[in-house]
Amino acid sequence: MEEAKHFIGGEWQSPASGETLAAIDPSSGQPFAQLARGNATDINDAVTAARKAFEGSWGALSATERGRLLFALSGLVGQHTEELAQLEARDTGKPLKQARADAAALARYFEFYAGAADKLHGETLPYQAGYTVLTVREPHGVTGHIVPWNYPMQIFGRSVGAALATGNACVVKPAEDACVSLLRVAELARVAGLPAGALNIVTGLGHEAGAALASHPGIDHISFTGSPQTGKLVTQMAAEHHVPVTLELGGKSPQIVFADADFDAALPVLVAAIVQNAGQTCSAGSRVLIERGAYEPLIDRLAASFGKLRVGPASADLDCGPLINEKQRQRVRGFLDEAAASRIATVASGRLEADAPSGGFYEVPTLLRDVPPQSRLAQEEVFGPVLAAMPFESEEEALALANGTLYGLVAGIWTRDGARQMRLARRVRAGQVFVNNYGAGGGVELPFGGTRHSGHGREKGFEALYGFTVLKTIAIRHG
Ligand code: NAD
Repeated sequence: MEEAKHFIGGEWQSPASGETLAAIDPSSGQPFAQLARGNATDINDAVTAARKAFEGSWGALSATERGRLLFALSGLVGQHTEELAQLEARDTGKPLKQARADAAALARYFEFYAGAADKLHGETLPYQAGYTVLTVREPHGVTGHIVPWNYPMQIFGRSVGAALATGNACVVKPAEDACVSLLRVAELARVAGLPAGALNIVTGLGHEAGAALASHPGIDHISFTGSPQTGKLVTQMAAEHHVPVTLELGGKSPQIVFADADFDAALPVLVAAIVQNAGQTCSAGSRVLIERGAYEPLIDRLAASFGKLRVGPASADLDCGPLINEKQRQRVRGFLDEAAASRIATVASGRLEADAPSGGFYEVPTLLRDVPPQSRLAQEEVFGPVLAAMPFESEEEALALANGTLYGLVAGIWTRDGARQMRLARRVRAGQVFVNNYGAGGGVELPFGGTRHSGHGREKGFEALYGFTVLKTIAIRHG
């Protein structure tokens, strides 16, 4: 990777503006690298390079050849897992073990989509006598990918992996707060032999480079992950040119725990689902709904676990790292101050290591109980390590609470009652439901996405390949 440059048309290119942005280490609050500050000119260059690749050397490859290139890239990512994890941990503040898992997931995304590339096919359809009708799945063309800062490698892998496998040429605008690992991956893609222009990365600010990408008339599809507010803006910009958009916008995902559940199995999962990535996970299990009879004992056990959580810099590799930036820290603090002002009880908090750098953006994990269902803490995405607990009396009430927000991304159901598992799994409003486990998005193979304010469209798994293609029907009259 070359510092302060975009990756366009297979080359490192200086920003048209000549301006740079600092990459900040959230563990210390200190800058550690310079990034190119992209604008509409850089985005236009990237879209032009992508179009050239799509209509040229990249578009000419067979699905099998594309799969082989992605497989080579997966292998290179696998060989550089530790280097990529170190970059990601520094850039996002996430503990090293989480960054290592993200790097491994990136390799796995490319492996999965490498294998899937030549398995996607159309159909033949019954029609009138004397006709043969078939459907073919074709790439959109040039796809735009707006990536957030919470899981740069994972979200890049799932979206770009599927888009490349289906033959699109990609223009990626990563988040200004975390994009260093992706620039290194761009270099690996070049080493793997990906034709110039198949993958382009323009770094910069959302309202500059991001908006230029979302409103560019040469883009054929946009995949966006981030906040509901920005998702709405991106959709409006894309609508100017009738460009389809896939949106993944976060959630307020419930974990519903019944009194008959296996608490030993549930406990570590309930804690990890909100502490992972300091709660900055779209599918974080941020609400725990507990059946009244089990409420006090489970709160006690959760409190004991929260009390043991340790927070510190990414390199210390503890349970929880810092938040991404000061703005995010203030946002989380605001929710906690509001809880205190409304007399919502804090049951337990984690502990910040004494030697954590003073400039880091730290907030300790916090467990809140009896959170009123209509409060902001129960309704809005905190995007921090804050777990809101509340009791329920009946299955109906559990369902009403679970479905009682504007979101619908993921849900967890903990019970040994098989019929109840199935009833709730079918009635809960979520794109993914986990029964007696919780995957925070689940594996690479599992389709992922939401309903309502959590967005629409599906990424991950084989399903994502449909979203990155358009269906063409060909009717042949042969008599
Ligand atoms: P954001 O939605 O503003 O940023 C996500 C991506 O969109 C970034 O790459 C950003 O540069 C880009 N972007 C921003 N403004 C844009 C614009 N006008 N046009 C095009 N692209 C634009 O998120 P944020 O400000 O970084 O975080 C704010 C909140 O969003 C968080 O507190 C959290 O609640 C939520 N969030 C959710 C996810 C998720 O995975 N669902 C990820 C990040 C943030």
